[in-house]
Amino acid sequence: MSDSETSETVPAHDTVDASVLVIGAGAAGARTAIELAERGVDDVLVLGKRGHGDAHTTWARGGINGALGTHDPDDSWAIHAADTLNEGHFLNDPEKVETVAKQMPDRLRELDEWGMEFSRTEDGGIDQRFFGAQSFRRTAFAGDHTGESMLNALVDRAQELSVPYRENVMITSVLSDGDRAYGAVGFDMDTGEYVLFNAGAVVLAAGGYAAIYNRHTSREDENNGDGPALAYRAGAELMDMEFVQFHPTGMAVDESDPEWEPWSGRLVTEAVRGEGGRLYNAEGERFMERYSPKQMELDARDVVARAIAREVAEGRGTENGGVYLDLSHKSRSFIRERLPRMYERFDGLGVDMASEAVEVAPTAHYGMGGVAVDEYGETGVNGLFAIGETMAGVHGANRLGGNSLAETVAFGVVAGERIAGRVDGPGRIPERVLDGVAKPQMRDLTALAGRDGAHEVTDVFADLQDLLWTHAGILRDEESLRAGLDELSALRESASDMDVGPITSDSFEFAVDVGFMLTAAEAVLRGALKRTESRGAHYRTDHPDVDPDWRRNVYFERADLGGMSAHTGTVGTPSEAVQDALDEGHELDYHQLE
Ligand SMILES: Cc1cc2nc3c(=O)[nH]c(=O)nc-3n(C[C@H](O)[C@H](O)[C@H](O)COP(=O)(O)OP(=O)(O)OC[C@H]3O[C@@H](n4cnc5c(N)ncnc54)[C@H](O)[C@@H]3O)c2cc1C
Repeated sequence: MSDSETSETVPAHDTVDASVLVIGAGAAGARTAIELAERGVDDVLVLGKRGHGDAHTTWARGGINGALGTHDPDDSWAIHAADTLNEGHFLNDPEKVETVAKQMPDRLRELDEWGMEFSRTEDGGIDQRFFGAQSFRRTAFAGDHTGESMLNALVDRAQELSVPYRENVMITSVLSDGDRAYGAVGFDMDTGEYVLFNAGAVVLAAGGYAAIYNRHTSREDENNGDGPALAYRAGAELMDMEFVQFHPTGMAVDESDPEWEPWSGRLVTEAVRGEGGRLYNAEGERFMERYSPKQMELDARDVVARAIAREVAEGRGTENGGVYLDLSHKSRSFIRERLPRMYERFDGLGVDMASEAVEVAPTAHYGMGGVAVDEYGETGVNGLFAIGETMAGVHGANRLGGNSLAETVAFGVVAGERIAGRVDGPGRIPERVLDGVAKPQMRDLTALAGRDGAHEVTDVFADLQDLLWTHAGILRDEESLRAGLDELSALRESASDMDVGPITSDSFEFAVDVGFMLTAAEAVLRGALKRTESRGAHYRTDHPDVDPDWRRNVYFERADLGGMSAHTGTVGTPSEAVQDALDEGHELDYHQLE
């Protein structure tokens, strides 16, 4: 590490050398670093824009998939892959799906060895439960704190291997000439100092983009599209961004009430329906009978979310724009035992789940799209990898619950192995990249800090989230998507004239985030407009059916003259083993759901 002063026009900055720079300290970043360290790669640096061990992963609750067959010995990696392709409506990359499904039994056993506190069967095995749309009990879990326990185990393992970690650093640009990545630039959020990272390879494990919607389940100020936007600006392609999973049951609250407002959109776990929760509209009708008489409340997330959206749109919603989720036919002791955190949360807000219903409405939960990568997680930019929630390809048009945590560790291993075989120290950032990318970026950040603009950052941030919800929400059509793109252009203008605090202020961080969000938002709107069919989580009211000709991925790249340029590409074919599993037609018996 060395301090360096540069010419008057370039702000002072710290320069840090790393053989591999891992941007993101959630499960995906941590697992990549472990793989690299175990393979003897020195000087790996992991960084995050929050404290050590604190990443969005800690919010994952329900579980992580892997065909261990604890209870169901007939389960196999091939059936796991088949279930994933089915739920993804065959837009997933079969090769990536296979990678995850094949690896997961070993990854789970390894997490167990590293101290993850898995819930156990009576004879001490890793317990597994049913999760929506999976043929067998395949979801391993640590109570209802799976992500937290998993990240703790990964952080402990990384510490055992002495992997260096730097906290509270926000990366604003990957250093690339469009062909190759050389590092990244950002700032220390505590001191405001600029930092130039010089690296032999760069791994983006910076999370997803579901929080670009105003109702979302993500942690505050995360999942704003940093990962996809950083990759795109560096010359990588984005893929499938129009596919956003709306979870049917986010909390619907009176947003004018300060006690309730922070809870808007927060997840009410699927387990409430799994335990027998029933959905009613404001007229007291159990409306799922009309949409899915067989599977009722336990149909796929997109089906239930659309049903709720329709009930509300057609005037049968509650005052807070939702429907009722009722478990009051179950005993208090049952609810307290099976859903302790949910019970406590509502109890704290003065709602007794044992005697009254809670209000719920769909909420943006997960972006299936992201950065287009090859089978090792590498983007089209040499040496730039994107993994975990930042990457696209595993989930297709809809994600199977429990598969995103699986993807983080499976691709952490694959990418780590690939990089370890190639990287040879930090390398050197070419002058043209320093002059053409790093220095202008630091100057831009300097110009942004303390800017006296006409628009509050928080207003632009909120307007952008409202725009996405209104124009690229659960139900979409051409007219609304086009209007959304027009509004986005106007918002870009506002974003270029924001009132921003000093570099260590929250408003500075949000202002940088607005830039990432604008990129992600444009790709979502354009992808949704381009895809003239309905498939999985993407529903066009003006094209309500699946179009077999649209079994294609939509890609976005930066056009030479600026602007997003779109093209489509075909999807691969499943291997024989997975095709056999598909042909066997395994299906979840919904009545077995816990
Ligand atoms: C409420 C909720 C419940 C969920 N439950 C489940 C579940 O039960 N099972 C399941 O499989 N999945 C679940 N998911 C999804 C799952 O949690 C995530 O997909 C997964 O944890 C993502 O891990 P990651 O490592 O890719 O990213 P993250 O954990 O989001 O980590 C991203 C990292 O990047 C850093 N970062 C971001 N931007 C920057 C930047 N500009 N500069 C520097 N650092 C940056 C962050 O600080 C962080 O360290 C859930 C999601 C939510 C919202």
